[in-house]
Amino acid sequence: MKLLITRPMTAAVEARARAEFDVVIRSETTVLSHDEMVSALRDYDLVMPTLGDGFDAGVFAEVAEPRCRLLANFGVGFNHIDVAAASAAGVLVSNTPGAVTDATADTALTLLLMSARRAAEGERLVRSGDWPGWHPTQMLGQHVTGKTLGVIGMGRIGAAIARRCHFGFGMQVFYTARSDKSPGFPVTRLPDLQQLAAAVDFLVVAVPGGAETRHLVDEHVLAAMQPHAHLINIARGEVVQQQALVAALQEQRIAGAGLDVYEFEPEVPQALRDLDNVTLLPHLGTATEEVRSDMGHMALDNIAAFVAGAPLPNAV
Ligand code: NAP
Repeated sequence: MKLLITRPMTAAVEARARAEFDVVIRSETTVLSHDEMVSALRDYDLVMPTLGDGFDAGVFAEVAEPRCRLLANFGVGFNHIDVAAASAAGVLVSNTPGAVTDATADTALTLLLMSARRAAEGERLVRSGDWPGWHPTQMLGQHVTGKTLGVIGMGRIGAAIARRCHFGFGMQVFYTARSDKSPGFPVTRLPDLQQLAAAVDFLVVAVPGGAETRHLVDEHVLAAMQPHAHLINIARGEVVQQQALVAALQEQRIAGAGLDVYEFEPEVPQALRDLDNVTLLPHLGTATEEVRSDMGHMALDNIAAFVAGAPLPNAV
């Protein structure tokens, strides 16, 4: 069976893919074009796509009887794949849950601390050569220990963020999700998102992307936040209404934001880049050698299972 991997991978993952499969590893780091996606469905039995490879209904509609049987996504988030259209075309979809959890939670904490303590702004100050030296009221930020955390989407990553905040920073944890959670330490579910936004010092977005959660954090949720509060988004850019966030930051209606993802990624609006009260990371959530290898191995495990006729370990 012929496998297409749509991006270069870590050396360990590429070596295993070459040893176990008849594989083509695309050398470009950019997302697949429409024509490349049509070719992927038409010319390969197995495809390992990733973030931004938009296998939507239109792509499936162009390939009447796809040769491809499995899209083994590299990543837990699969909102770039129309799973219903894939299923109707007889194409299975799998993802890589769990492998990404701790690294993404670490990135959320990086952003939370950077935003609270104005770390990016301070780093820019030192680099500028204009730092006048320490004084008691210089660059005062927000204390983190003992504060309140609100998690939107208490799944694997949301719970890992909450655990770090509870045990590491003595924070009180509130959350919204579709069901009650018992992560093994005290958490309180608030049914209403605006109520959650109003109650906390740090609001972290950890729900999957897609039609159901698009603009879940809108102008009303942002308006409910307290002026000293910070918004952190490590989920998907489109969950937050970016224009409303820019306005809230410009008018200092919230104290700051820490973003790993953007609504029209990789485009980051100039208005956002001009602001000092936002920390901007280039989608670094899972960007460590070990984690990217674990993700690649998990995707290959799903491919190997399919080839062996076994159930997919991570079907979605
Ligand atoms: P997960 O375990 O499936 O958790 C998702 C959580 O969101 C669950 O608690 C779920 O509630 C909740 N949820 C889903 N839809 C909702 C809705 N409409 N309203 C309210 N809550 C909703 O997923 P995960 O592994 O934690 O990953 C979460 C997302 O993080 C991924 O989908 C991905 O997009 C993103 N991510 C980003 C990076 C990065 O590099 N920045 C890395 C990895 C993942 P229930 O449990 O009650 O169903």
